[in-house]
Amino acid sequence: MFSKILIANRGEIACRVIKTARRLGIKTVAVYSDADRSARHVAMADEAVHIGPSPARDSYLVGDRLIEAARRTGAEAIHPGYGFLSENPGFAEACGKAGIVFIGPPPAAIHAMGSKSEAKKIMEKARVPLVPGYHGDDQSADLLAREADRIGYPVLIKASAGGGGKGMRVVENPAKFADALAGAKREAKASFADDHVLVEKYLTRPRHIEIQVFADSHGNCVYLFERDCSIQRRHQKVIEEAPAPAMDPARRKAMGEAAVAAAKAIGYQGAGTVEFIANQDGTFYFMEMNTRLQVEHPVTEAITGQDLVEWQLIVAAGGAMPLTQGQLRIDGHAVEVRLYAEDPARNFLPSTGTLVHLRLPEEGPHVRVDTGVRQGDTVTPFYDPMIAKVIVHDRDRASALRRMAALMGETEVVGVTTNAALLKALCAHPAFVGGEVDTGFIERHRDSLFAKLQPADDRALAVATLARLVEWQEATAVAARASGDPWSPWTRQNAFRLLDEGHDEVRWKDGEREAAVIARRQRAGGVRLELPHGALDAEVRRLEEDRLAIRLGDDTFTASVVRRQTSDGVDYTVFADGASRRLRLVDPLDVTQYEAAASGEAAVRAPLPGKIIDLRVKVGDSVSKGQPLLVLEAMKMEHTLAAPMDGKVKALRYAVGEQVAEGAELVEFEDEG
Ligand code: ADP
Ligand code: ADP
Ligand code: MG
Repeated sequence: MFSKILIANRGEIACRVIKTARRLGIKTVAVYSDADRSARHVAMADEAVHIGPSPARDSYLVGDRLIEAARRTGAEAIHPGYGFLSENPGFAEACGKAGIVFIGPPPAAIHAMGSKSEAKKIMEKARVPLVPGYHGDDQSADLLAREADRIGYPVLIKASAGGGGKGMRVVENPAKFADALAGAKREAKASFADDHVLVEKYLTRPRHIEIQVFADSHGNCVYLFERDCSIQRRHQKVIEEAPAPAMDPARRKAMGEAAVAAAKAIGYQGAGTVEFIANQDGTFYFMEMNTRLQVEHPVTEAITGQDLVEWQLIVAAGGAMPLTQGQLRIDGHAVEVRLYAEDPARNFLPSTGTLVHLRLPEEGPHVRVDTGVRQGDTVTPFYDPMIAKVIVHDRDRASALRRMAALMGETEVVGVTTNAALLKALCAHPAFVGGEVDTGFIERHRDSLFAKLQPADDRALAVATLARLVEWQEATAVAARASGDPWSPWTRQNAFRLLDEGHDEVRWKDGEREAAVIARRQRAGGVRLELPHGALDAEVRRLEEDRLAIRLGDDTFTASVVRRQTSDGVDYTVFADGASRRLRLVDPLDVTQYEAAASGEAAVRAPLPGKIIDLRVKVGDSVSKGQPLLVLEAMKMEHTLAAPMDGKVKALRYAVGEQVAEGAELVEFEDEG
């Protein structure tokens, strides 16, 4: 076995690999870019090497620097994690040449599966079933369009070099083919420097079912059962589970054996995943093979009781796999959710910012949390916006989903927008719990899942107001101590003021709505809150930093309230009853917040740094709320930005091809009304 390895990755996967290495007594070397100087994976490793500037192409993707770092630190092997160089045959080969073991399959196997088109050709020969489609070398637009006609619409265009859902377009009818092809090629070029595409039949209501395979250098090859990863957005996984709902043993065996055949066809070694797309009737087709550890491998670890990173290390060091097919068993059910910094309501646009408050579920016998960040860390636009993976293992699917829904309700993140509420809604959705599983689930159930952000209810308003009162009280106490005369009336604030009526008004803004809460201090202690729907007596006490113990009417509960000063105001995020609500404090002394609203002007700003790749409107156009204005390419994906209101385009600040900074004003509007 190795005594020291280098992890050529970052984030949660780097941390996860370090954990197993540590347990096995293997020393670890982390690598980091400028943006990751104080990242969690750097802190966890035994040593760390700086490899360059923040953009991945200047750091995590520079193979030579990684190999040099391994050589300098005496690491005998490199674990590539997933993403980055994990599926780059050139890098695997360069490791070998430098005398360093690449913890992954042989370069030839990576190469064979690196192109989805080439992989389909190989699988065709190995008699693994394929989705009907075209995966040839001729890339002329005319030919591809004719092939699409032959296959029959809807079709799916995919980047051959694709991954992570990038460079993929569903096309409903022939009229839309040319545009979609151009978009897919553009994205493929930007992400993979290769715009070769394939076209295949787009299945309706399919399931994504994949098989974990493992092979060693002694000729053994097994499958560690399946994962169902059908719950997706933008063709990317959001929830994964094992085993797959309603899988029967005969089909499991057929799929497992097809996956093993695929692995054997390319002389595979190490961990790999064969992805299938399956119809509801159980028929399945080969989609692609990922020649690396998969993001969702923990659900397989949970149900098999195995550590797949340990298996990878054993196999890479030349050992035989710990178990044979006959020794592998499935125990219970596991579910993983990917907690992303993204905004589901804005078409899952990634969200960047500092995690000023972060409370992830606690690990325990049923719960595992894999993360690469801590409170105070920043989600930057440079890398994947995943905050954490939460994995639950329980005796059956219903129990696991129930537990997960509860955990998502307790997850607290302030500083970036997350998909936690959506994950909770998914895990608690009766149709999903009932076994309705396919890749169109989120779209189809959009309305019930995205239940419109309700206006702040009285409870959230009460909690935010109580947090404000506690702050005042604490500030008053500090001021009194500082003045030297704790009893001076001049150091008392607001409701305590002499000759005052003894009440405070706190105004909150919840989206577009405003609500006022009046707080009257009671002689007997406590406070009476006059809320939009009635009055309630309340008491509040601070437990720790952001946590309050509250009595409201007859209810006693704890809630977290996180106060955050932003450039344009103060926000209070209230976490209570398994939901979060952000309220903007309305400060009557701050006039700037009224100016923008009064002038009837608004602007669309860049949510992320990126490049303008398409303008859909001209100056002077009248647009309606929700109408697409422009396309921004950020984090290697295209994001369409829409009009925030009905209005007229007053100015366009950038032209196609221009680079824009985060927060840059892109489109200026004027209200027509
Ligand atoms: P990536 O490399 O981005 O993972 P995949 O080929 O694995 O690309 O496809 C990603 C997802 O796109 C699948 O999980 C599935 O939801 C969807 N998808 C892929 N091929 C098809 C198809 N032929 N019909 C319907 N959906 C598909
Ligand atoms: P899986 O197929 O393992 O579930 P996905 O295809 O959803 O994984 O996501 C893996 C993809 O995410 C990679 O192909 C890569 O494009 C991207 N990715 C993976 N790891 C990272 C990372 N650490 N930083 C940035 N992007 C990553
Ligand atoms: Mg895939």
